[in-house]
Order: sequence, then C-alpha cells, then structure tokens
Amino acid sequence: MDSLNATHSSSRTVAVLLPLPLAGPYDYAVPDGVALSPGDIVTAPLGARQMVGVVWGAAKGGVAPTKLKPVRAKLDLPPLPDDLRRFIDWVAAYTLAAPGAVLRLAMRAPSAMQTPQRLQTVYRAGGPLPEKITPARERVLACAKTAPLSVAELARKAEVSTSVVRGLVDAGTLLPVVVARASVVEKPDAEHPGPQLSEHQTVSARALCDAVQAQTYSCSLLHGVTGSGKTEVYFEAITQALRRGKQALVLLPEIALTVQFLERFAARFGCLPAQWHSQLAEPKRRDIWRAVACGEARVVVGARSALYLPFAELGLIIVDEEHDAAYKQEDGVTYHARDMAVVRAHLTDIPIVLSSATPSLETMVNAQTGRYRHLLLPDRHGGALLPGIEAVDMRAAGLPAGQFLSPRLAHLMAQTLARGEQVLLFLNRRGYAPLTLCRACGSRMECPNCSAWLVEHRFHNRMLCHHCGHEAQKPKACPTCGEADRLVACGPGIERLAEEVAGAFPEFIPAILSGDNSVAQARETIAAFTRGETRLLIGTQIVAKGHHFPGLTLVGVIDADLGLAGGDLRAAERTFQMLHQVSGRAGREKQAGRAVLQTYMPEHPVMQALISGNQAKFLEAESAARQARTLPPFGRLAALIISGPDQEQVRGFAVALARAAPHGANLHVLGPAPAPLALLRGRHRTRLLLMATRQHDVQALLRAWLARVKIPPAVRLSVDVDPYSFM
Ligand code: ADP
Ligand code: ZN
Repeated sequence: MDSLNATHSSSRTVAVLLPLPLAGPYDYAVPDGVALSPGDIVTAPLGARQMVGVVWGAAKGGVAPTKLKPVRAKLDLPPLPDDLRRFIDWVAAYTLAAPGAVLRLAMRAPSAMQTPQRLQTVYRAGGPLPEKITPARERVLACAKTAPLSVAELARKAEVSTSVVRGLVDAGTLLPVVVARASVVEKPDAEHPGPQLSEHQTVSARALCDAVQAQTYSCSLLHGVTGSGKTEVYFEAITQALRRGKQALVLLPEIALTVQFLERFAARFGCLPAQWHSQLAEPKRRDIWRAVACGEARVVVGARSALYLPFAELGLIIVDEEHDAAYKQEDGVTYHARDMAVVRAHLTDIPIVLSSATPSLETMVNAQTGRYRHLLLPDRHGGALLPGIEAVDMRAAGLPAGQFLSPRLAHLMAQTLARGEQVLLFLNRRGYAPLTLCRACGSRMECPNCSAWLVEHRFHNRMLCHHCGHEAQKPKACPTCGEADRLVACGPGIERLAEEVAGAFPEFIPAILSGDNSVAQARETIAAFTRGETRLLIGTQIVAKGHHFPGLTLVGVIDADLGLAGGDLRAAERTFQMLHQVSGRAGREKQAGRAVLQTYMPEHPVMQALISGNQAKFLEAESAARQARTLPPFGRLAALIISGPDQEQVRGFAVALARAAPHGANLHVLGPAPAPLALLRGRHRTRLLLMATRQHDVQALLRAWLARVKIPPAVRLSVDVDPYSFM
C-alpha cells in the first residue's frame, strides 16, 4: 500500500462507496499525483476511522472540493470489476438495501484488502536425523525429500498431526526455506477424461456447451429426475468454459455438506475446486478472494455469498438444486441467490444453468414461456428405476400415542434390513419432542423471548428455542401449576423416533443426522452411511439433498404432512420438492428403491402427485391456483416487517404505515397483522404485505411509501421483496 500524501491542491474528486449501510457513496478529494478509476479499491477516512472502500464513479458534488477529505491510499489490488459494481447497484435497487450493505457482501474478506503476504516458509529434509525415528517421522521425511512444503502440507501428505512435523523442525531435521507464496488453488484439467454420456445426456451437454461457446446471456433449465446425471452434464459445460479460458461458478444450497460433490469434481477435473462459504477461516477467505480476483481460481463452488466474488473472467454460472429454499437469504440484505444469479449472468452477459429434479414454479413458468431453454433428462443413469412411492393412511394405522412407525413401514424396514440393504427415515424435526405439556394444568412450555414452544433435546438434557437459542433445564415440576412429574412430551422429533426404532430393531443402531450435529460429525455420518457401515439413518432435511447412497433402498417419511401446515403460499410446492428429493435417495443403483409416505391426508394433491409421479400435473394445478390469485410468479409480493421491544409502539407505527400505503388498481395491502412469530428474540413483530401485478414497479411503490412515514428510533422496519418466509 503506498500511502498518499494528504496534499490535494487540485480540485479532482471521486465518489467512494464504503461497505456500510449508508444512503450511498460519499465524495472525497483525490490527492495530487494519484489517478483513480471506478472500481479501484482505496482507503478513505470516515470520522476518525480509515475504511476500505471502492471508487464508484464521479463525485455527486454539493460540497466544495477543498472542503472534502482526501482519499488516503489506493490499494494494490485488482479493481472491482465493472459488472460486479453494476450487479451491486442492481441488487441494492431491487431489494431496497443500502448499496454499501450489498458491497459488504463482496468484501467479506477483510484481510484480502491488506498488504499481501508474498513470502512463505517451507521445510526441506537435510538436517541431522533425530535420535528417535518413528514411522510417522519417517513418512514426513520422505515427503519433505520430494519437495519443500509447509508444515500443514507436510502433515496432510504424511497423514500425521502438525506436532509431528514441528517436532522435526525443532530437532533441526527439517530446514526452513523462505520462498514466494505458492498458489492456493489448483488448476482443474478440462482434458481429464470424463464418463461416456448417454444419448439424452449428450444432447443436453451439447446444448450447454453451445451456450458457453456463445459467451452471451442465456438461461438453461437442466431438468432431470434424481440420479439422471445432471452433475455429469453440467460438468461438460464447465469443461467448455475452462477451454475458453473462462472462470465458472457453481452455487450449491448447502456447501458444508458437499463432500460427495467435491470428490466427484476431483475425479472429473483432477483437483478440488476453490470453495467459498461462511465457515471459511479468514486466511483461506483472503487467499480465495484474491485468487478469484486475479483469475487464478478457475472454478469456484460456493454458497449464495459466492455470487458477490470479484471474478476476473466469469464465463458460466451453475445453480444446482435451484428450487432450494436455502438460496433465500433472510437476514441483512434479503435476496434470492438463484434470482440474483440470473441477474448477474445477464449483467455479465454470460450463460447460466439452473439444475433441479423438481424445479420451482417460477423457473418452470419461465421454461414454458421460452425465456429459459428447457433441457430434460427423463431417465436415471444406467437403467436404475425411480422408486415406487406409496402412502400409508395413518388414520387407519391406529397407532397408540407416542408411537410413530406404522406397521406397514416397520414391516418393510424389517424386510429391507434382512436383505442387507439400508433404510433412511426422514423427519424434519430436530430434538426429542416439539412440545412439552403439563398433564395437570394443560400449560405448554414456551420460550420467554419468542412465540414458540421449547423443544426438548433429551440427548443433551435441555429445552431449546429453535428461534432464539434460549436454553433451559427441563424442570421436574410444571412451572405454571407446580405439580411434579406431570410434564409429557408430545409429538416426535428425530431423537424420539430413534428411541422407537432402537426398540423395534435392537440389532441395528440408528445413526442420527440433523442441524444439531457439527459439520465434521455430519460429514462422518454421511460418509459412514455411504460406505454402508451404518444400516439405518434417521435425519432431517439435511439428508434429503443431493446425496448418493448406493445401498439405500427404503426411504420412510414419518410425517409427510408436516410441511403443509400454515398458510405459506409455497407450502404445497415445497413439500412436494422435499418429499420427491428424499424419496429420490432410494434405489439409485442396482436394487430398486421404495418410498413410504406416512400421511393423514393421502388424498391431498401433493401426496397424489408423489404417488403417481405426475409432476407436470401437480405443477399445472399449482400454477393455475396461483394465477387465479395473482400470486408469484404471476404477481409480485413484498413484505414489510415491523419489530421493536414495545408492543404498543410497534402497533402504532404499523397502523401509520398502513394508512400511508399506496392505492391503485390491482394493488392490495394486507395487514397490519401480528406475524405468526409475533414475538421473536424479545421483539414484537407485525407484518404488512403488498400484493401487486407484474406490471407494477414494486420498488418505486415501496420507496414512495417509505418516504411518507418516519420510523421511530426503537422500531425496525425490514423490507422483504419476493418473500419466501411468512413467519
Ligand atoms: P443427479 O445430479 O441428476 O441426481 P448424478 O449426476 O448425481 O445425478 O448421477 C447419478 C449417478 O450416476 C452418479 O453416481 C454418477 O456418477 C452416475 N452417472 C451419471 N451419468 C453417468 C455416465 N454417463 N457415466 C457413468 N456414470 C454416470
Ligand atoms: Zn426463543
């Protein structure tokens, strides 16, 4: 970083956007002898602080140049690319977020902005041998003989802990060498041999390769049944991008659990891709951010935030499992990463691929109207059959209270296990029981901060709020009436289901997988089940996504109706997608698979669509219902959530906001109404919903509306354009 002198006799000025939720860029003076262009990354003062910001364009004026503070320094980094800056402005305008808040998403690697470390210490063999030589030490020395490596690299290669390596450094056996820092990412090899594609796969792959070849905006929906080889097909598109010297970005909904994906990528391209997600340690973030910015990282696999990386030569975006609700970011800047990925592809003028077995209605409509290319893979690879899906009518099952496995499912489980195959039970509820009730007075154990029940986690012996994290010990006596030993668990969570399963199948220990497990634990559980070491897996939605379990032939859905409760406009669509995905884990190889849906409403259209396998008919009915009510994707929605510690103040402001609401033909404002989660983390919450047509400029309406009211200091107003959560 070359610090610039504070002399600025000239009258040159620029606008600099800081990564803060401010109204817009601020003007600064440009010191003499410095040339600044849009995109340059600089440090500039804000109050007493020095901030890293980005030159956004010409100054707005309004303040005399001599009164402006000067930019302090221009950093030695590639400028933020023009398409990324336009994307940031676009996202800000669309979501009504502050541009600086969106810029912050693109600058999530603070140390990348500092002086780069260009040197690194590596170690080579060559010193005197230590007195004690163990097999572990021998392996390290063998590795260090081939090439000097860092401590971490030596430990990984020799499969020892870093302390073994450090021991050899301390003993003087390994000698330090200071070298220029090696690249942090490997180069995927486009010419690495891939699989022989089937006829259908070849047709789709060719269409995608043509799109990459064209290097202009296009959107393709890669729509293939589970196990049809969508990944192999879009790998071909990545190959094409690599050959053309372009970078590729693959978005996945759940990056922490993508070990299988990474292994497949490595098998196809000879090395791992660069990875980007929120759990990356800071040094790694810095390295990847820079590697993306200078074009060294050719393929990035990431969670939604990877969309804001400063790609130098982005030439292809892939959104895998495009229908997944995890793509919607709910806090801070609220955006839908799939929709914004399409926008980014548009602004950068490059192709994008949306991949799914159960595309969202939004995407299907775009495919039907011809806005997206529709590529179909109708069969599973290698002749594997889609699982047969049957419903078990729980009204007729007559289970005693506290029991959740129907005789039919238990029977199929016994048969499957006896054949040496694997069983997956799906229940999208963490913990032991969702509700604890006092049998004496009828009161329910509730969170003091949220309008939500406390969920018992018997394994850790805690009562937990899944919304705010409030924790308590399970009391012996009812907190309301004081009666002892009258609290009962109601309904199943996966821990309780595991208890029942262990009782029914004592010779198999069920593995459990949910968001309560650490990423490392989850990876291990999934790996063990993939290898067939565990025979029975019980899990929440984590197990539904993308996994390939070769020996799994039976999937049991314990409560297929769970997602249908509540008034969410996408409840049916989401339940269909989730159950289709989880059923699709069964029978992906030689043995045929089967899925069982336990339901109290087997006649429901979602259950009927799953049993008949008629996805098209279901989507048509959903589509017609939404069209009739002008709901997305045929209409537009925006939610306004008002929250604050004082209930009266929140209600008062909500009423004032409703009074200032826009009027017009085909424009409706619903509310104010208390949110379903009327109390969250100690804040009272009220909602308003704006319903408009596709012809309305929703952002303009919202801006004008918000300009008519003044938000009281203790009240928070958050705007959610295209809401997915109605809580
Ligand atoms: P999807 O993403 O559509 O669910 P995958 O890409 O995961 O399907 O493919 C399912 C399985 O079939 C994977 O194990 C994959 O490696 C294998 N597979 C798919 N296509 C081929 C092919 N052409 N040759 C060999 N194996 C394939
Ligand atoms: Zn809570």
